[in-house]
Amino acid sequence: MKNSGMRSRFEDTDIKFLKGVGETRAKLFASELNILTFRDLLNYFPFRYVDRSRFYQIREFQGEMPLLQIRGHFINFTTEGEGKAKRYRGTFTDGSMMMDVVWFSGIKTISSMYVPMKDYVLFGKPTLYKSYWQMAHPEVEPYDPDRPPSGFQGVYSLTDQTRRRGFGQRMIQKAVGNLLAMPGFANIQETLPDEIIERYRFPSLSQAYRELHNPTSPDNLRKARERMKFEELFYLELQILRYSRRRSHTLRGHVFEKIGDYFNRYYSECIPFELTGAQKRVLKEIRADMKTGRQMNRLLQGDVGSGKTMVAFMSMLMSADNGFQSCLMAPTEILAGQHYETVKEWGDKIGLNVALLTGSTRTKARREIHAGLISGDIHIIVGTHALLEEKVEFRNLGLAVIDEQHRFGVAQRAKMWAKGTIPPHVLVMTATPIPRTLAMTVYGDLEVSVIDQLPPGRKPIETWLRSDANRGEVNRHIWRQIQEGRQIYIVYPLIHENEKLNLKSLEEGLERTRQTFPGIEISFVHGKMKPAEKDYQMQKFVEGKSRIMVATTVIEVGVNVPNATVMVIENAERFGLSQLHQLRGRVGRGADRSWCILMSKEQLGGTTKKRLGIMTATSDGFLISEADLKLRGPGDMEGTQQSGIAFDLKIANLATDGQIVSAARKAAEDVLAGNPQIAGEIQDADRDNAVRLDLAGLNILACELKRRFDKKVDWSQIS
Ligand code: ADP
Ligand code: MG
Repeated sequence: MKNSGMRSRFEDTDIKFLKGVGETRAKLFASELNILTFRDLLNYFPFRYVDRSRFYQIREFQGEMPLLQIRGHFINFTTEGEGKAKRYRGTFTDGSMMMDVVWFSGIKTISSMYVPMKDYVLFGKPTLYKSYWQMAHPEVEPYDPDRPPSGFQGVYSLTDQTRRRGFGQRMIQKAVGNLLAMPGFANIQETLPDEIIERYRFPSLSQAYRELHNPTSPDNLRKARERMKFEELFYLELQILRYSRRRSHTLRGHVFEKIGDYFNRYYSECIPFELTGAQKRVLKEIRADMKTGRQMNRLLQGDVGSGKTMVAFMSMLMSADNGFQSCLMAPTEILAGQHYETVKEWGDKIGLNVALLTGSTRTKARREIHAGLISGDIHIIVGTHALLEEKVEFRNLGLAVIDEQHRFGVAQRAKMWAKGTIPPHVLVMTATPIPRTLAMTVYGDLEVSVIDQLPPGRKPIETWLRSDANRGEVNRHIWRQIQEGRQIYIVYPLIHENEKLNLKSLEEGLERTRQTFPGIEISFVHGKMKPAEKDYQMQKFVEGKSRIMVATTVIEVGVNVPNATVMVIENAERFGLSQLHQLRGRVGRGADRSWCILMSKEQLGGTTKKRLGIMTATSDGFLISEADLKLRGPGDMEGTQQSGIAFDLKIANLATDGQIVSAARKAAEDVLAGNPQIAGEIQDADRDNAVRLDLAGLNILACELKRRFDKKVDWSQIS
């Protein structure tokens, strides 16, 4: 076992050396399934398991059937249809009844492969077609009397290519079986330290592999899966923690020692409302962070309308009280403009100098702002990513607040740090909440604060799901609201890759709206407009001069028009749930009853129906994003794509394995506490539950960390 990381190991053996594989199949393995070594094959887990303990009979079939096996023979075969509609049909019987077996592709190969009257085992999912049972593209193998029906069996995902080349389930099962039977396999190098295996009573690696490929019982299978998921997450967490430890040791932060005059005066004399309990709690968390001497890196999650802006402002007051400047960065000019109005109004009351810097700030004003930032005259600067330009220098930037994090690449944040020798504290605000365990994993060392309470007196927004057939009803509703003096949003998605086509569908929407509501002033806004024109159209709506706004999602984030009471979203099925939730948050900001109307196609697919159903069922942004995550998976989540962290999880699922994520995180913390050298530390405070590893265990960690992460980006530096 000594130096086992250095020597070539059994698991690293080229797959072509496996009995029953060879050069040709090895190429197919590599190109189709990305399996190059023994380890790759062992880690190619079945995606489902089926009960092969018995043969079903066709006459037993009823209702929704699972994947199952039957035994019998084909009576005859026919080819039907032409071209794309061509199919190959076999009539099959097991003695109890007859059924059809159909193939829609690979007909040439299939037709030469199977013959009538021979004994076969068919494996597949029966479906009822025109009150006749059929099975499409089953696995077919000759009946082998020496191979009795056996327990649970793994089903591997294969590609069309592999199947077409005659490489089916049976083949991969045999390959795995051969591998598991090799003497080398029994001595396979364990990948978790003994201490961890004992603590969680995990099966050994070889036991786990055996169970995953050929389960002996559902319970043993569950334990094996748990171990594998844990292992995957454990190393991920360990890696994240190692780097965040290093970062927190090397990155010092400004010390905000005191709460001073700005904060106290604003809080006691100027604040326009009573803070909610959640706002107060979060402010305390931020306060505690900023006085430690470490750089704060905190994610502030709060649903649309939960009052994040005031929290940001009061944090900036703490910064000012300690003699530091702050910036507030927003993803769009419109949002930056609105933030500026708000923060300026608040800041004016206590004599803070607030400025706005965006891409369209004129040269002269821009120069003055640059000068004001260097001299320290400007206390708070609000802006877009124009704030990140090199020419923008601060006298002493103490706090950077970033609104709507998912619009900013993480690299941009890193850029901002570089602006001083001691980086500013960073507060990232988002209304797209993600579960805490996931946030910690995605963002590594980001601390998380949550505003889980809305200011009092908010009216819930009614959400309707409607289709073209209900357009009359929807239009009448809009008319009534307009007559009552209210305003309406109508939002279109970006449907085509092609910008011209996008504009076309938007312009058609505008035309239709004009015809339906003649004489009503309409604002028209989209992303490709000149900023001046966009601002003009927006301003018209903000001031109530136009009653309807037809727009793309440029209005998604932040605009505040309390008189708007109806949000119509066209082609709602094309939006992500979080995006729909954001859009819905544009209404319900005033005292009046509000509606969000999701327009969609008449016929919706199952998942789409579920997704839109969630929108009508709840207004809780946390529930919505969690549901979205489950339906779409974290790889799709806004934010993770830009974060530069490639999730390469084979078996664990961040959305559904929350408990294992927590356990893995805790184990990683305990291991680091017991073995600080893993993070390049000399000593650590004594901790309960610290796990001290022996040399063999440390060796395993070193090997696994190297194998898993060495080639990847060092994402701690950009988080
Ligand atoms: P978001 O979290 O979506 O950015 P905002 O900060 O824009 O929310 O706040 C939404 C609205 O609620 C604003 O008009 C704000 O002034 C108001 N608000 C914030 N906090 C409170 C509070 N504690 N009580 C009453 N109104 C509040
Ligand atoms: Mg906001």
